[in-house]
Amino acid sequence: MSLRSPLLAAQSLRCVAVRSDDANDGAVLTVDPSAVVENVRRLASVTPGEIMAVVKADGFGLGAETVARAALRGGATSLGTTSIREAVSLRRAGIVGVPILSWLNAPGVGLHEAAADHIELAIPSLRHLHAATASGTNLKVHLHLDTGMARDGAPCSEWQELCRAAAWAERTGRLRVVGLMGHLPRPAEPSSAASRRSRAVFAWGASVARNAGLTPQHLHLASTAATVADPDSHFTMSRIGAGLVGIDPSQTLPLRSPLTLTAPLVSVRTVAPGTPVGYDGTWVTSRTTRLGLLPLGYADGLPRCTSGRAQVMVAGARRPIVGRVSMDSVIVDLGSLPARPGDMAILMGPGDAGEPTIHDWARWADTIAHEIVTGLSGARATRRITQRERPTSP
Ligand SMILES: *Cc1c(COP(=O)(O)O)cnc(C)c1O
Repeated sequence: MSLRSPLLAAQSLRCVAVRSDDANDGAVLTVDPSAVVENVRRLASVTPGEIMAVVKADGFGLGAETVARAALRGGATSLGTTSIREAVSLRRAGIVGVPILSWLNAPGVGLHEAAADHIELAIPSLRHLHAATASGTNLKVHLHLDTGMARDGAPCSEWQELCRAAAWAERTGRLRVVGLMGHLPRPAEPSSAASRRSRAVFAWGASVARNAGLTPQHLHLASTAATVADPDSHFTMSRIGAGLVGIDPSQTLPLRSPLTLTAPLVSVRTVAPGTPVGYDGTWVTSRTTRLGLLPLGYADGLPRCTSGRAQVMVAGARRPIVGRVSMDSVIVDLGSLPARPGDMAILMGPGDAGEPTIHDWARWADTIAHEIVTGLSGARATRRITQRERPTSP
């Protein structure tokens, strides 16, 4: 994506500025929370609904607390996680007074922890409902309807019974239904038959719930792509995950990547023509060249399948990664570039300085940018939050 607004361009370089002492630290994953703030503001500008910031998978690999606080500063009014454990750890980090919804829990799991920390729970089946009503916790819940993915949520055939049982539980003071949720299988394709059907199913689900006597405050179907591309899916709230970290799957809104991954050249060597490089010698030099070694590999989230395709930015130039991506390292063909050991390479960033982006890496790996970003969560990189926007209380 090459879309860029003047506003975003004005922020250029701040995020890719590299401190000179980084050379002693090994790899560094820099997170710029101001990009998250800006992304939420942009998304909020395209919907009248509220925004739930989905900070699952440790905030898409960038740190759940950092991403959550920035999203709240940007205008999100609630948070979402998959597990109760993730939600509880946000509370432990001091994020209180804002609703957190957790989905993807087995029936009965973590109900008392959820209640103690004011965590709301998605209810995708009668089993889940019964476990919640039997627990004596009086949880706030969101009933989850399967709107066409056959993944999570109650099938339409069980929805009426689920709504009736939930309404009865509410009348008898055993839980409170504060929301209804669905999920779109093709959020970037608003005019597809699947999306039209999903929206209709969700609207039907809401009327069934009302007829059962439920009055949920939040109706939420849209994720990032649908928030951008499908206004008819907005209802009262959007659940935004990918958009927080600069990914718009509909590729229409210019969002900014908060992450920059850098590493110093560990060593540089000059090799003769005909030198096989890396495991299996899949790349052989055709000229005298200089090879640089970077201390990051597939164990750090650089997909092995990008061997022969990926590039990094060194000394102001894009240079190819050559040979196989190893577990702990990659080799860069520096050519005649005057780079020295200790010089910093940018593996990916927002793209301001011409460095590769998460979208480039996704293309090289034949995957989506979500997988690149979340794959960095295990990186042996020091995580650093840019000074300007260190988290403060939301
Ligand atoms: C991850 C997730 C979201 C967020 O989707 P994005 O496309 O990342 O914005 C919303 N709802 C559910 C149920 C999810 O699992």
